[in-house]
Amino acid sequence: MNTSSAPTLSSSLEKGRPVFSISPFTLLDFPDRTGCILWFAGCNMRCSYCYNPEIVLGKGKRSWGHVREFLLSRRDLLDGVVFSGGECTIHPQIISFAMEVKAMGFEVKIDTNGSRPEVLRQLVEEKLVDYVALDFKAMAGNYWKITRSDLFLAFEKSLEFLLSSSLRFEVRTTIHSKLLTAGEIEKMEDWLREKGYTETYYLQHFNGDKETLEDLGKSQKPVLNQNDVVWRN
Ligand code: SF4
Repeated sequence: MNTSSAPTLSSSLEKGRPVFSISPFTLLDFPDRTGCILWFAGCNMRCSYCYNPEIVLGKGKRSWGHVREFLLSRRDLLDGVVFSGGECTIHPQIISFAMEVKAMGFEVKIDTNGSRPEVLRQLVEEKLVDYVALDFKAMAGNYWKITRSDLFLAFEKSLEFLLSSSLRFEVRTTIHSKLLTAGEIEKMEDWLREKGYTETYYLQHFNGDKETLEDLGKSQKPVLNQNDVVWRN
């Protein structure tokens, strides 16, 4: 659970408009698939570098009926649907949404901060998801500073669950030099490898061109000793 000063969920959850917007086509966000992106409104974190303040803080604009109509029109054109946000797993109907999308014949990718391991488990166990991108924000000691939440243990549970499953997933971290030093990033990678993660660990350097939740200023891309991370633009 969040502490009292942690973010509260958007009222869009209650008003039947769970989705902020739809990106109708992407070749970049679902590995080896053509897809579209559903940007779910609201988030239970407040990362200062967040590129999507209007999605995190704003209200949803699209009803599920609207999303359904859009997806039906793309049934033979796209392979997959990315559930992103915001944090899609905080939506009470996420399971039934995924069920419907799978029943239409799409593959489903979930972008998540890992804060709802029980939802992730249900999605995986009911075979409603084909790929997960899991955000690793920071080690426990830095987690509040970066996310304004105390959800590290929930993230760790999600990671452990994914490691124990056979689902394809990736772990990724956004880097701003004011928030994470090179040494801290190297410790995060060591911890991840000790946990048993053997796939590519993706790092994304903060892009100062976009509006963010807080004004952090420019970031210096850190020089790392590790060779087995991949920088992603
Ligand atoms: S970066 Fe992700 S987890 Fe953090 S506030 Fe933005 S949407 Fe939420």
